[in-house]
Amino acid sequence: MFSHDVEALNAIREGVRSLCANFDAAYWRGVDERKEFPEAFVTELTEAGWLAAMIPEEYGGSGLGLTEASVILEEVNRCGGNSGTVHGQMYNMFTLLRHGSEEQKRKFLPRIAAGELRLQSMAVTEPTTGTDTTKIKTTAVKRGDKYVVNGQKVWISRIQHSDLMILLARTTPLAEVKKKVDGMSIFLVDLAAAIGNGMSVQPIANMVNHETNELFFDNLELPADSLIGEEGKGFRYILDGLNAERTLIAAECIGDGRWFIDKASQYAREREVFGRPIGQNQGVQFPIAEAHIEVEAADLMRWRACHEYDAGQPAGASANMAKYLAAKASWEAANVCLQTHGGFGFASEYDVERKFRETRLYQVAPISTNLILSYVSEHLLELPRSF
Ligand SMILES: Cc1cc2nc3c(=O)[nH]c(=O)nc-3n(C[C@H](O)[C@H](O)[C@H](O)COP(=O)(O)OP(=O)(O)OC[C@H]3O[C@@H](n4cnc5c(N)ncnc54)[C@H](O)[C@@H]3O)c2cc1C
Repeated sequence: MFSHDVEALNAIREGVRSLCANFDAAYWRGVDERKEFPEAFVTELTEAGWLAAMIPEEYGGSGLGLTEASVILEEVNRCGGNSGTVHGQMYNMFTLLRHGSEEQKRKFLPRIAAGELRLQSMAVTEPTTGTDTTKIKTTAVKRGDKYVVNGQKVWISRIQHSDLMILLARTTPLAEVKKKVDGMSIFLVDLAAAIGNGMSVQPIANMVNHETNELFFDNLELPADSLIGEEGKGFRYILDGLNAERTLIAAECIGDGRWFIDKASQYAREREVFGRPIGQNQGVQFPIAEAHIEVEAADLMRWRACHEYDAGQPAGASANMAKYLAAKASWEAANVCLQTHGGFGFASEYDVERKFRETRLYQVAPISTNLILSYVSEHLLELPRSF
């Protein structure tokens, strides 16, 4: 049904696995405990070219599809790592590639592909509006050859380890647009120039080792050529990139799910209680088997989304459903893995509690489960719009 070049995908898997072998469980546990950004891992993955997988060859990338990109992120998580530290670059790049001017693309994409610049951040979410994105209050007002930005963002990831950020701001007040999705624009922000000159960053301590921040804009001046695409169409551009983002997150969850199932199965084979391996009890083995079935089923939807996306077909339904199913399956696998480990599941040295926290995020970000259910209800089942 979904034809892939299995050998080529296996070669990618092996390449990513051999890189990940340099960053073992102790490495990820260490950065998690110290709340450090996994700089060495991100640098090596970038320098090896994996994050440039989807940048077209004419701009210095590998020109691969979403299918291949999804395998890269899946393998990072399958090996026990955290793709959440790097995935932003893969999907933020789409916005620039699809909607940037030729000049912007020539200026930035080759340097991103070469690892000289990182485009790891996208600032959409705001503290007072949450998922109701069209109500964002951050504004960008054109003054001469500049835009002046004021407002606030929250949960903006990897700012401290990125050179560039895509910013969504209102350029026409909500009251003055015909459709609420109009009047927002996106800008490519040079973070080194902005921080301390109208933009400030407040890190948010959080449950996972995820570098994420609150941003404040106080008359930040952006050169007019920071605008990506046409003024007023920014929200549509962001929506355009979401199918890729959701599919990639689904693949990461598949990687997590498989890691949990391997880990649970291995422990259940080895741990002996009452004179036999705990995995000999059906009460222990059935939940692992069930989680495995759920992960494999979710994976089929992930391939469908990849296939549709790479074939240029509408992929919204599959991408959303893949993200929903995979996030749910990986969370269920995490829960089973923790339960299988009993008390040891709570000990950091087993890595289960860390991955458990990491995979939980995907029920909430980058889109919460309810919002996917809402999308499916409204757009696929033609149920009345609820908000
Ligand atoms: C670690 C982390 C990293 C993040 N990184 C980024 C980033 O880099 N850039 C960025 O822009 N954002 C980022 N986010 C923000 C993330 O996308 C949002 O947290 C997410 O979309 C949910 O929005 P919210 O937190 O404002 O929840 P809210 O919109 O306040 O919703 C709260 C809860 O209510 C539910 N809900 C709300 N409205 C409805 C409704 N009408 N029907 C049913 N349920 C509803 C939601 O599903 C959710 O469960 C990040 C978040 C986290 C936690």
